[in-house]
Amino acid sequence: MTRQSSSPRVVVRRHPERGRYERATVHAILDEAVVCHLGVVVDSQPLVMPTAFARVEDTLYLHGAAANQGLSAAAGAPICVTVSLIDGLVFSRSAFGHSMNYRSVVVLGTGRAVEDPGEHERALEAVVEHIAPGRWGEVRTPSAKEVALTRVIALDLDECSAKVRSGPPVDPSSDRALPIWAGEVPLRLVAGSPVTAPEVPAGVAEPLSVTAAQRRFAG
Ligand SMILES: Cc1cc2nc3c(=O)[nH]c(=O)nc-3n(C[C@H](O)[C@H](O)[C@H](O)COP(=O)(O)OP(=O)(O)OC[C@H]3O[C@@H](n4cnc5c(N)ncnc54)[C@H](O)[C@@H]3O)c2cc1C
Repeated sequence: MTRQSSSPRVVVRRHPERGRYERATVHAILDEAVVCHLGVVVDSQPLVMPTAFARVEDTLYLHGAAANQGLSAAAGAPICVTVSLIDGLVFSRSAFGHSMNYRSVVVLGTGRAVEDPGEHERALEAVVEHIAPGRWGEVRTPSAKEVALTRVIALDLDECSAKVRSGPPVDPSSDRALPIWAGEVPLRLVAGSPVTAPEVPAGVAEPLSVTAAQRRFAG
């Protein structure tokens, strides 16, 4: 167990030098990611579902339909949430050495069904604000029926790790003189121009949150 990891279960063993445990690093990766993956066992079958999420201090919130089988199974059960930011494709001289540059987070714990109405609403707001800060204040808030149809699962960041790979391929010295290109192709998520939905009344301007979201992922 390394000095800063929160439990032996989240100590990075494969390439331990890439393990990061400082809360600031974990937070930064979570906050930059748009999507997480929820791993949960449903009727003895592991499922890994991509889903939106938000972080509020040291808690992750995932939301979805009350009937969502993954979220339903996550309540009170051991779960795993992962987030991956892909920073580049790494081309080595050998087929074996190809890799990716990335920043990722793994969180282990027990899912908690959020029942408190205040926390439930704050979680829904956080999920919307995670994607587009300011959007919650621009839109119609959820009706009681919509709230009842939405399940929220919380997962505390008590047991989590980050792993970061950066830089060129790591080829053995015996491969380095080979006449084969090696290097990295950087990757990033880039937003296109906003497309106004049909039936938005004429004269409704693009709001600040949309402009900000587009700028956040500007190429
Ligand atoms: C985009 C991307 C592509 C990858 N491609 C490959 C691939 O093709 N092949 C491959 O073997 N590996 C790949 N990895 C790395 C992979 O995620 C694992 O770290 C690696 O496979 C070691 O697995 P393990 O079970 O031996 O982990 P261990 O080191 O035994 O895991 C122990 C603990 O370390 C932590 N941990 C492990 N991996 C991560 C991680 N990525 N992020 C945060 N915490 C982590 C977890 O808490 C885990 O419980 C990739 C990672 C990313 C993000």
